[in-house]
Amino acid sequence: MDIASQLAEVKARIAKAAIGAGDVAGQGRLIAVSKTKPTEMIADALQAGHRLFGENRVQEAIEKWPLLKQQYDDIELHLIGPLQSNKAKDAVKLFDVIQTIDRPKIAKVIAREMQAQGRNLALFVQVNIGEEPQKAGVLPDELSDFLQFCQHEQKLTISGLMCIPPVEEAPAPYFALLRKFAKEFEIPHLSMGMSNDFETAVQLGADYVRVGSAIFGARD
Ligand SMILES: *Cc1c(COP(=O)(O)O)cnc(C)c1O
Repeated sequence: MDIASQLAEVKARIAKAAIGAGDVAGQGRLIAVSKTKPTEMIADALQAGHRLFGENRVQEAIEKWPLLKQQYDDIELHLIGPLQSNKAKDAVKLFDVIQTIDRPKIAKVIAREMQAQGRNLALFVQVNIGEEPQKAGVLPDELSDFLQFCQHEQKLTISGLMCIPPVEEAPAPYFALLRKFAKEFEIPHLSMGMSNDFETAVQLGADYVRVGSAIFGARD
C-alpha cells in the first residue's frame, strides 16, 4: 500500500473535478480519514506532506493522535463521527474541528468546554440530509431553529455543514440540497463526499471532502 501515491491520486482527481465544475466548485480540501488505521499509515501520509485528517471516534483518536500532534504542530484534526457529551471534554482538547454538532445538548456542552479550556474549535452542523431514521444529524426542517439556537443562544460560530447521503441512492441531489442550505443560512463551508463520490461533491461545491478507503485501503 503506497499511501503517498494514493494521496497524490485522490488530490489530482479533486483538482480535476474542481476545474470541470467552474466557479461552483470549492477548493476541495482533502480530509484523509484514518479511522481504524494504524499510526504507521498515518505517518506515511504525514511524511508525504499531508496535514488534514479525520477520525470518527474520540477514544480511538486519543490513542493515536496526541503524539503525532506533538511531532507535527500544523496538523488539523476533524471529528467526523458521533459525539457523546461525556466525551466532549476530550474532543475539545484534541480536535481542531468538530463536524458533528447535531443536537442542543451537545452544542451546549461543547460551548461550555471551549470556554473552560480556552479553545476555539471550528464547528460544523451535521445534517441528516436524507431524513434517515438510523442516521445522526439535524433534520432539514429543524436546521433553521437549530442554527439559531447554536448561534444566538450558545454564541457559537457555525462555520460549516456536513452530510452523509443515503448509501443506496445517487448522492448529487443531496449534495445540491446541502449547498442550498449553506447558501440560505450563510454558512461558508461544506463537508461532503467520500471515497465513492468525492468528485461529485466537489463539483457541487464541497470545500471539504472526507476520503478514507481510497487513500488507506479498505477497512475490515
Ligand atoms: C468513514 C467515513 C468517511 C470515509 O469513508 P470512505 O468511504 O472510506 O472514504 C467519511 N465520512 C465519515 C463521516 C466517515 O465515517
